[in-house]
Order: sequence, then structure tokens, then C-alpha cells
Amino acid sequence: MTVKERMLIGGGWTTALRGGDFETVDPATGRPLAVVPEAGAEDVDQAVRAARDSLRHPAWADLPPEERGRLLWRVADLIDERAAELALLETRDQGQPLGVATDISVRFAARVFRYYAGWCGKLGATAHPVSLPDTLHYTRREPVGVCALITPWNFPLMIAAWKLAPALATGNTVVLKPAEQTPLTALALVRACADAGLPAGVVNCVTGGPDTGRALVNHPGVDRISFTGSTEAGKEIVRAASSDLKRVTLELGGKAPSIIAPDADLDAAVAGNLAGALLNSGQVCAAYTRFYVHSSRAAEFTEKLAEGAAAHRLGPGEAPGTQLGPLVSAQHLRSVQQHVERALEQGARLLTGGERANDVPGEGYFYRPTVLADVTDDMRIARDEVFGPVLSVLTYDDTDSLIARANDSDYGLAACVWTRDLSFAHRTAHALRSGTVYVNMPPFLDPSAPWGGFKQSGWGKELARAALEEFTETKSVLIRI
Ligand code: NAD
Repeated sequence: MTVKERMLIGGGWTTALRGGDFETVDPATGRPLAVVPEAGAEDVDQAVRAARDSLRHPAWADLPPEERGRLLWRVADLIDERAAELALLETRDQGQPLGVATDISVRFAARVFRYYAGWCGKLGATAHPVSLPDTLHYTRREPVGVCALITPWNFPLMIAAWKLAPALATGNTVVLKPAEQTPLTALALVRACADAGLPAGVVNCVTGGPDTGRALVNHPGVDRISFTGSTEAGKEIVRAASSDLKRVTLELGGKAPSIIAPDADLDAAVAGNLAGALLNSGQVCAAYTRFYVHSSRAAEFTEKLAEGAAAHRLGPGEAPGTQLGPLVSAQHLRSVQQHVERALEQGARLLTGGERANDVPGEGYFYRPTVLADVTDDMRIARDEVFGPVLSVLTYDDTDSLIARANDSDYGLAACVWTRDLSFAHRTAHALRSGTVYVNMPPFLDPSAPWGGFKQSGWGKELARAALEEFTETKSVLIRI
């Protein structure tokens, strides 16, 4: 029997006022997993009102920082205590292999809560001298207010934690809206917040699709929107938020280049690029997707890359030994297929993959890791975000034009360079127009390293101290003494 879920509004677990709901599906089987409320504008309104009320009585922001920190730490402890259950839920709802759900999604969510628990008592302000006579000046960092946190389906638990923890550490109240494809671990996370003892109404969660997100974005009681998702939806949010100038943070799409220099350790580059391209079946905003390989190493690199990609074991995330799970939905599987078909029409050469994996039992959305050679800069596959296990190999001879080619993208989220030459590594890292540059490593994250894109990959930063700035306003106080 499918489980019936409820949303968290003002401390109560509730169905949608109009009674609507929708199913979330296990992408490894295509079968329904749970029934979840479809929040309408009236549910969103109640959630925003609950969040607004709890800004004031009792004032979450006025809680002694030590106490707020203790509550966030308690959330982290509950995530750890419930790790096995959370990981299994993430695997079933999102499709990621259980090892990825355990070691990345759940572990990182707990780490992020601990990281921001530690910041609660350290959000100091400044007392800069001013030139006005007899005047004391100091600044305060104040919560922005009610924050709408809208998350995507690729790392549902982890990305919800990235937003919740800094928003709460800085004294805001929140309404979280997870992606309609994967709402279950976000609901489990807000349950952990409630069980940890956060006051009712500080954390609310409404479930539903883009229309639920739109109702939240358009609600006049929301002060800040923190959105992670597609560039297209990000632009729509900016247009909507311009009516009342809500603060907006956007973490959007990517099309990360990975440069393989002639002196690179080729085996390390192949292993690291496979890890960087195929984690979570390529459904990673920072996934390496455009490989610029020096022509002197291109044949060897491409052969090893294709061999390594083809060797990946596909299967349900719960099955031992699975390296690649399914894509998140039938719709997304079609989209990935179309990207590859178009690439072949435009002249790319298929080395491996390029098809649905029909040998995995069940009706899951499995797609074989795909390596394409002879890709050129103008092809759509080199420009559009695929968000799947599709690797495109391009070659270069001329180092001078290499950076311009790697930068010739609407996106600028992550980039990578593989080289043993320290000067080339630094020069390239500085020249790439990208929020994060990796050298000789897959796209790992750390709570202390700010995350966010240049260009159409977004506005603002998540993680690290930077996220605290996103969730606060700076106030100057001037006093005649
Ligand atoms: P999406 O934009 O379709 O949806 C993301 C979320 O926004 C969902 O909760 C959805 O219901 C909601 N939504 C959609 N349209 C909306 C609107 N107009 N107003 C308000 N809410 C709206 O994205 P997705 O398909 O869930 O996620 C994949 C995308 O997310 C990719 O482009 C990927 O690169 C990006 N992503 C970026 C990062 C990052 O850190 N930059 C991280 C993960 C994913």
C-alpha cells in the first residue's frame, strides 16, 4: 500500500485544504511510492502566515545564539540517528545508489547543520569608525524574515539542508518547497527539525509542483527566495520577484568543462572525470560534461573514458554493487534520449551507450552511460545542459583559444583542469569564468567552500560564511554620543 504523507504547517501535519494530492514514483521500478498533498495558494498562505507569526512570538531570532545552535546540532544528531532510514528513502524516491545516499546526501546534510550550528554565536557585526563628529557607528546583521526555500530533485535532502541550516542559524523562519518528483526526504528533514524542538511555525514545508512554487514566490509575506533548479525557472522567479523586490538567491544549471592538458596523469583524469560525470547518473549541476582534451592524448583518453563508462553497473539503488541508478523520471529519460539523438544527427560519434538500459528488470528509467566523440563547440550537446550520464569529448591544440572555448557557455557553475603544471593550473583556474574551479579532482563539496555560479548559473552563494550573508540584512546604527 502506498504511504500517505502530510505537510508541515504551523507545527501541524496536514493535508491540502482543497484535498488535492499527487503520487511520487520510485524511478527504479516506475511504481508509486507515496501520495503527497498538492498545496494550493491557500495552503501556501497558511504556511507563510505561520512563518511570519513565528518571526515575532516567540522571536526565534531573539533566542540566545547558544540555544539556537544547540537546536541545529540536535537536528544533525537526529539526521545521523535516522541515517539508514533517510538514505533508503532518498534512494527509493530519487533513485541514487544507497552508497551515494548514505555517504553524500545524508552525511552532508548532518555536516551542514553542524557547520551552521557553530556559526550561531559567531555572527558578529562591526564597529567601524566614521568621520561624523561624536558619532558611534556599528552594524548589525539581522534576519531577512520569511524565506521561501525551493529545491530540485537531484539531491533533495542535501540541498534542503544547505538552505535550511543557514536560514535558521541567522534567525529566519522558512517555508520549504521540495521538488514534486522527490518530496519525501524533505518531509523527513522538517520532521527532524520539529522533533529536535524547533518552535512550531519556524519551519514549514509545503509540497506540490511549479504552481505551488509560484504561489510561494508571489506571496507578499515572503522576504527572500532561495531557489535551486533550472535556469529557465530561475528567470521566471526573477520576473515574479521584481514586483516587490524580494531578495533572490539562484543556484541554477551548469555545463562544466573539464580540460585535460597534455601533461595530465591520464589514468587519474579518466577516473576523476568518470566520477565527476557519472555521480548520481550525471544528475549533478556541477557534472563534468564537456571534455577538452589535448589532441596528443585524445585517442587514449577517449578510449579509456568509453571503456570506463561502459563498465559501470546499472541497477536499482538498493541493489548491492549498483554504481548507476535510474534517471529520476520517465520525462527526464526522454529528455536525455532526445539530447543524444540530436547530437548524433549533428555529427557526434557514439562510442558507448546511447540507449535505454533494457536489461535491468522492471520498468525503471535506466539510461546507459554515453560517451560521444567528434563533438564540436557549436553542437547543442556542447551547449545545452543534459543533466544525465552523457559525456562529450572535444579536442584542442591551441592553448590560447582553449579558455575562450571553455568559457563560451551561458553557464558558469563549475570547471575542472587536469595537469601536472602548477602554473598552467593556476592560470587556467583564474581565467575560467566559473563559480568553482577544481584542479585534478572530481567536483567535491565542503560546507566551508562557497558554492554558486557565474553568468546564467545563478546569483549569490550557498554554503560557507557566504550563505549567512544571503540570509541576513546589514543595518547601520549611528549614535550621537
Ligand atoms: P526545476 O527548475 O524544474 O524545478 C526546481 C524546483 O522549482 C521544483 O521544486 C519545482 O517545483 C519548482 N519550480 C519550477 N518552476 C517554478 C516557478 N516558476 N516558480 C517557483 N517554483 C518553480 O529544476 P529541476 O528539474 O527540479 O532540477 C534540475 C535543475 O536544477 C538543473 O538545471 C540543475 O543544474 C539545477 N541544479 C542546480 C544546482 C546548483 O547548485 N546550482 C544544484 C542542483 C540542481
